[in-house]
Amino acid sequence: MGTDYTAMWKDLGLNLESHDALLGVLGNAYKDIFLTQKNRPEGMGYFDFVMSEVHGLRIKELLDEKAQGRKIIGSYCVFVPEEIALAANATLVGLCSGADFAMEEVERYLPRNTCALIKSAFGFKLGQVCPYLESADMIVGENTCDGKKKAYESLGPLTGNLYVMDLPQTKSDRGKDLLRHEYDRFKTAVEALTGVAVTPESLKEAIKTVNAKREALHRLSLLRKTDPAPISGLDALLANQVSFYDNPARFTASVHTICDELEKRIAGKQGVAPEKTPRILLSGCPMAVPNWKLPWIIETSGAVIVGEESCVGERGARNLTDGSGTTMDELMDAIADRYFKVDCAIFTPNGDRLGHITDMAETYQADGVIHYGLQFCQPYIMESIPVEKALEDRNIPCLRIETDYGMEDAGQIKTRVEAFIERIIG
Ligand code: SF4
Ligand code: SF4
Repeated sequence: MGTDYTAMWKDLGLNLESHDALLGVLGNAYKDIFLTQKNRPEGMGYFDFVMSEVHGLRIKELLDEKAQGRKIIGSYCVFVPEEIALAANATLVGLCSGADFAMEEVERYLPRNTCALIKSAFGFKLGQVCPYLESADMIVGENTCDGKKKAYESLGPLTGNLYVMDLPQTKSDRGKDLLRHEYDRFKTAVEALTGVAVTPESLKEAIKTVNAKREALHRLSLLRKTDPAPISGLDALLANQVSFYDNPARFTASVHTICDELEKRIAGKQGVAPEKTPRILLSGCPMAVPNWKLPWIIETSGAVIVGEESCVGERGARNLTDGSGTTMDELMDAIADRYFKVDCAIFTPNGDRLGHITDMAETYQADGVIHYGLQFCQPYIMESIPVEKALEDRNIPCLRIETDYGMEDAGQIKTRVEAFIERIIG
């Protein structure tokens, strides 16, 4: 019998009945999707444990940190620099927004044709079901797409502690200056929140910690180049999802443990699926917990996912920060340089992303790319057309899927995915 966390959830102000319902849905989906996979690496046991304790032990750890004076910052986007939060004695957690909740209430604030990710952020707040959201001392929104930008105007009064970061829309010098300026402003806001001044030393240390986490994820990604694939796309996605809320040092060590095991599997030609199983690169909108629908459909349709061109994947973790500077200015410049390379579809033009997708398809020996766009997400859906063209120009088959968090279209998507796999088998 596990620990009873009811009192902790009650103190956080969660709606216990709704929260129980959410945990039930989450637990059942996890069991059906992850625990039924065959031939999983043993190291996934750590991630299974983390998921089983996602609202339990991890929240207790965060509350213990808070009791010792540390602040918790929640974020919805990979443009929010974890390095600055860590350097000012705060912990950054990703707020997942990967499931529908309290939709009737949500539609009192947002038009029906809003993407599922934004609706989910509202649903978790209105339903009082997310202990991360409720334990955060500051929530950071960012002006990325129009949907988020406008939605934060309504989310702010609901949370009472929303900080909005402005973000550039072009990869110009002016855009970079804006990002650098916004990171300075964020540093000042975090210092005011924690009462701890960031120093070059603390920032260097934080850069080291976050780089180590990203290096571990790079190691995991690169091991997926091999055929047979040593780990499923679902499990690799899970590791990426967990990276947003786990303790960074413990997460890094756990990813290296699994990589050691995968290296042995590769040496023994042991895969999660037989050699020559069709290999898919997934590209597009981020997939937050518990949004596992499309990867689950793909991997139960006779293919294996070998990479994610996504913010919960390589787009979010690809670049490291140069930590060699010694002054605050040098280190803050390096952070802005690093994040400015993130090729989110909100940028125009966004040619780098097309190049990254084709490079990834080649690096991971993908037989085809499935582009995932959340319904009503204009940036990614519009960009999916040039993405498809760039891939097909290089004879890399591409399938564009538009969906949401509901299961109503699962059968129809499966039929399309199976036909696509047939096509790439030839
Ligand atoms: S897709 Fe864009 S807006 Fe969404 S998390 Fe990534 S960078 Fe942020
Ligand atoms: S999925 Fe698209 S529309 Fe939704 S928040 Fe992200 S960029 Fe905006």
